[in-house]
Amino acid sequence: MKFYSTRNKKAEVSGAEAVMRGISEEGGLFVPQSFPVFSSEQIKAFCGAPYEEVATEIIGAFLPELKNELPEYTRAAYSRFDGDPAPLVKVCDNTYVLELWHGPTHAFKDIALTLLPHLLQGSKKLAGNSRTTLIPVATSGDTGKAALEGFSGVSGTAVAVFYPFGGVSDLQRLQMITTEGDNVFVAAIKGNFDDAQTAVKKAFTDAELKEKLAKLGIELSSANSINFGRLAPQVTYYFTAYADLVEGKQIRYGDKVDFCVPSGNFGDILAGYYARKMGLPVGRLICASNINNVLADFIRTGTYDARREFHKTSSPSMDILVSSNLERLIFDLSGENDELTAARMASLKESGMYSVTPKESEDMRKIFAAGYASEEEAANAIAEYFDEYGYIMDPHTAVAAAVAKKTREKKTLLVILSTASPHKFAASVLKAIDESPTGNELKDLQKLEDVTALEVPESLINLPAKEKIFTDCIKLGEVNGALVSFAERLGKK
Ligand SMILES: *Cc1c(COP(=O)(O)O)cnc(C)c1O
Repeated sequence: MKFYSTRNKKAEVSGAEAVMRGISEEGGLFVPQSFPVFSSEQIKAFCGAPYEEVATEIIGAFLPELKNELPEYTRAAYSRFDGDPAPLVKVCDNTYVLELWHGPTHAFKDIALTLLPHLLQGSKKLAGNSRTTLIPVATSGDTGKAALEGFSGVSGTAVAVFYPFGGVSDLQRLQMITTEGDNVFVAAIKGNFDDAQTAVKKAFTDAELKEKLAKLGIELSSANSINFGRLAPQVTYYFTAYADLVEGKQIRYGDKVDFCVPSGNFGDILAGYYARKMGLPVGRLICASNINNVLADFIRTGTYDARREFHKTSSPSMDILVSSNLERLIFDLSGENDELTAARMASLKESGMYSVTPKESEDMRKIFAAGYASEEEAANAIAEYFDEYGYIMDPHTAVAAAVAKKTREKKTLLVILSTASPHKFAASVLKAIDESPTGNELKDLQKLEDVTALEVPESLINLPAKEKIFTDCIKLGEVNGALVSFAERLGKK
């Protein structure tokens, strides 16, 4: 299967190249030239199948060149989850929660980031590339740990994570700096998240650094959320959720199911759109935003307008004003018009906005619905689900639950995607259910368990006792030096 760029269809690459490159030269995103379609028989066969087998089928349809290795890769990735990687929990009549946070870092990014390193390793093998790929990551918290866990121990790869000093929670910091593995590195940076991100971006374009690393047999690459290798694994759980409903006799095959998705960069919900294109009986995809509601506004109006105030909320992974994966939807809606997509993205960059045509906007609303939830509405959703159903959810999932309440069609079966463990946001969750946080994140974990009977994952409980391996705090100008020292250590092994 071939892929091409949303901004230049002549830029054609194989799936393996799309994974290795991440982004096309002119800034476009790689999309499949055509979508694989699964027959109803094939989808029915997913009922009762282990998650990694479904993942192998779905991802293999996009990356057939890795077909032989995929069973091994998906097993390696998903055996790191605590049981089923995407269990579907019935909350009440017609409402289900798809829990995507049973991976090593207890957030949904694990689903893709545990597999991507293997896809990258396999793609490099196909290309005859024997260099070590080093992934520098700037993080405001969650992605850093998910990348560290995903890449740790995968040969031919390495990851270096930089987080803003004082800019992540204690829990997030402890999670990162206690990561074990010969191919991982973590440092705090004196500066805020934007500073860290700018410093990391500079490293990618620094010719002198590139040369130094090349001498050590090392090349830089990125693992950010626009890489198709992160998107493909997310398509799987839409299929397994549907198959679980059929298998549990909650629906009959062919019945439409709606999904409500707490959205930020638009990757999670786009995977649902792709699942629908691939033949899954998806009804409506409800895009849920917090008060940074640029996506919800776009879906309702057809105008994407990022010129607005940025709000910090209790669902930080959704605090985003430029949702990069949306470009793939825009491209699709335009009838795969690369010039038009390039022009719209240029307009977004220059003037902070663009509009699609009324026809495109209408087509979009045949599939997508949207809404946003205030901080109060999200907190109320946490309390309501806990009081009425004994179900406890994190603030990101709560945004989706609150939006679903306002926008869903009551008769249709609805699946709410749950993107983080409530424990990762214990203080917000405690407040929402009228309990006072203790002022100490680790104590909050225990308190949340005491109040809700939801057990704290062992890897979080044990954090304070673990060895703090990475205690460096570096200056912005020292990022490149830190990368070279890390590369020298890697080169010696
Ligand atoms: C990344 C993330 C989201 C948003 O997902 P997108 O694919 O960026 O739309 C929502 N919730 C949590 C907890 C996340 O980590």
